[in-house]
Amino acid sequence: MFENKEKTNLNALGEFGLINHLTSGFENTNAESLIGIGDDAAVIKNNEHTVISTDQYIENVHFDVVYTPLKHLGFKVVAATISDLCAMNATPKQILISVGVSSKYTLEALEDLYNGIKAACDAYNVDLVGGDTSSSVQGLYISATALGEVSEQDVVKRTGAQPGELICVTGDLGGAYLGLQILEREKQVFLAAKDMQPDLESKDYIIGRQLKPEARVDIKPLFKELEIKPSSMIDISDGLSSELFHLSKNSNVGVAIHEDKLPIDQQTFDTARELNLDPTTCVLSGGEDYELLFTLPQKYYEKIKNSPDITIIGYVTPIEQGQVLINTEGSSIELKAQGWQHIA
Ligand code: ADP
Ligand code: MG
Repeated sequence: MFENKEKTNLNALGEFGLINHLTSGFENTNAESLIGIGDDAAVIKNNEHTVISTDQYIENVHFDVVYTPLKHLGFKVVAATISDLCAMNATPKQILISVGVSSKYTLEALEDLYNGIKAACDAYNVDLVGGDTSSSVQGLYISATALGEVSEQDVVKRTGAQPGELICVTGDLGGAYLGLQILEREKQVFLAAKDMQPDLESKDYIIGRQLKPEARVDIKPLFKELEIKPSSMIDISDGLSSELFHLSKNSNVGVAIHEDKLPIDQQTFDTARELNLDPTTCVLSGGEDYELLFTLPQKYYEKIKNSPDITIIGYVTPIEQGQVLINTEGSSIELKAQGWQHIA
């Protein structure tokens, strides 16, 4: 962390030289990507329905380069963008990434960013098929548009949850938020005394959750294998509570989740306590875990009850019952949609 490197001015290559340099290592691997980088537009021939989603990542709004290695940022941009496709039960296939970059960035910095983008494209079997490159007045701006495919019968929307169904999540929650708290804390320490080396070893899991989240591309194949289909689904980018409200509103149902069922990693739990934060609040309101939240008909219970990737956290209820958390004492507490909001 916080290391300096060789510096080459971006102007040295010119716009086309820069595009060539950054994208030369990318090759299309999906048969659907007929024409990629290098022509006026990409040409894609998908077999099923095309699913498209776009996201932007703006310096000092979505990321802080003081503690975000650009390689990790590149990986995260791809993972976070395709996470929305996973939430539709689609298979990610292509991505377009545009960057606006100010003169404070060097060629080596952009190489790091594209190394991360490449690592994610390889990991998720996604082709980088285009983008745009521009200078910016200030800071780094990244926009990513991902394309994927899904058959008509496999599409899962936010609208299909029914009272009585199970509410499930993948993975564990709250880690990315606590990783961010640790990085923010270490940034203050670093700014106060630049020769201090932060001790982050005991926080490796949660810092990884913040800096290098994974998209759950493994869940669609798991659904196929188990022969189950969720009735509704959403990815957890803004915090569990906020996403539960989206599902509730879109499906016109209530939700009841159980505090003692929430999946929390031990390091997440311990760090919350260390920072005097309530672990449950971190799970409900912390963002950026990029896990999937979905509802499932009761008849599938036997098929998922032993899955290490899936946790049942509660039940869908009639809309009149609202959105509640049943705490460890058995009391019902009204949930608030207080997830991380980009525009407060
Ligand atoms: P145009 O002037 O038509 O916008 P560009 O010179 O911007 O063309 O882009 C040329 C090719 O390089 C296009 O295929 C475009 O998608 C691709 N490209 C440009 N910038 C990037 C980038 N940052 N990442 C990936 N592909 C890019
Ligand atoms: Mg262009």
